[in-house]
Amino acid sequence: MEKIIIIGSGPAGYTAAIYAARANMNPLLMDGGLPTGPGDLGAGGQLMITTEVENYPGFKEGITGPGLMDEMRAQSLRFGTRIVEDRVTRADLSRRPFQLWVNEDRYEAQVIIICTGANAKWLGIPSEAALMNRGVSACATCDGSLPIFRNQPLLVVGGGDTAMEEALYLTRHASKVTIVHRRDQLRASRIMQQRAMDHPKIEFAWNSVIQEIHDVSLGRVSGATLRDVKTGETRLVEASGVFLAIGHSPNSEIFKGQLEMDEVGYLVTHRDVRTSRYAVFAAGDVQDRVYRQAVTAAGTGCMAALEAIRLIESEGANIMEAGTEW
Ligand SMILES: Cc1cc2nc3c(=O)[nH]c(=O)nc-3n(C[C@H](O)[C@H](O)[C@H](O)COP(=O)(O)OP(=O)(O)OC[C@H]3O[C@@H](n4cnc5c(N)ncnc54)[C@H](O)[C@@H]3O)c2cc1C
Repeated sequence: MEKIIIIGSGPAGYTAAIYAARANMNPLLMDGGLPTGPGDLGAGGQLMITTEVENYPGFKEGITGPGLMDEMRAQSLRFGTRIVEDRVTRADLSRRPFQLWVNEDRYEAQVIIICTGANAKWLGIPSEAALMNRGVSACATCDGSLPIFRNQPLLVVGGGDTAMEEALYLTRHASKVTIVHRRDQLRASRIMQQRAMDHPKIEFAWNSVIQEIHDVSLGRVSGATLRDVKTGETRLVEASGVFLAIGHSPNSEIFKGQLEMDEVGYLVTHRDVRTSRYAVFAAGDVQDRVYRQAVTAAGTGCMAALEAIRLIESEGANIMEAGTEW
């Protein structure tokens, strides 16, 4: 039986591994394996599709997303983390030791730390994929202050609170922000709607969807074709950036019916990193619908590892049942 199995190799997973390994817990980390598409980014997680990370402390000139993840992986290996280069396909959390499967291989663990992240939802059009990181982004906090967006017109796609927040954030840098929304009413809370509507730099393109992002041949965003969903009419708008704010999908399917989740699938945690099941912790974006940053994911990964170490040390040989209150 393993003491600690960490599922996921984003900032949360690697940080949990570094702390657990340095505490001589000999952790095993399942890294997610090879990417299979935009909904499954594989080892390294979301930062593997990011060019520049400028807000992770410790790198004053910034660092590439893959570069940062390579460093974290190497640091976790340096202290003895063992890595299974594949994804967990099934979990049984009904009793301890917990059981996890990677295809046919079965693993047992006293404690599990879930760090499986969440993936941004994308429009799914070819021009979006071609211009990702070249003006197309799913994170205004991460990318909004990059020079390519400064004093430029930008588009935000979505109609919920996140879209309003992203648009308001972008007004600090952009000359104008147009919120593209497929309906004629927003889903966002009244207060966020009002803030966006009152802002002099924010406009709305109602009943509209992005049909195409331009200009793939230039290798940067120069605008987009919007289609009116009611009339079918199209129009070209100028923009240097397109920010998607149409939601995220937490990678929590394998725990459905076993752990408490919200309506979208985010794991519900209490006392910071504890899931609804004793000795199962969750850290990073899979349990965070608010901040979704590398540094917050790393922070909760650290917290989960420290809590896991404490639990293992307090249990000793006396392993409590999975249904224990905590
Ligand atoms: C385009 C883009 C740019 C970004 N830029 C920044 C930025 O500049 N600064 C910043 O702070 N944040 C940025 N973010 C946000 C940041 O990437 C996330 O907040 C952070 O990566 C979350 O870390 P995590 O460890 O929770 O999850 P993730 O990074 O999502 O990693 C999840 C891991 O779990 C693995 N996994 C999933 N399911 C399984 C399974 N069943 N078995 C095993 N493994 C599994 C995945 O393969 C992956 O390795 C950006 C995000 C995106 C999408």
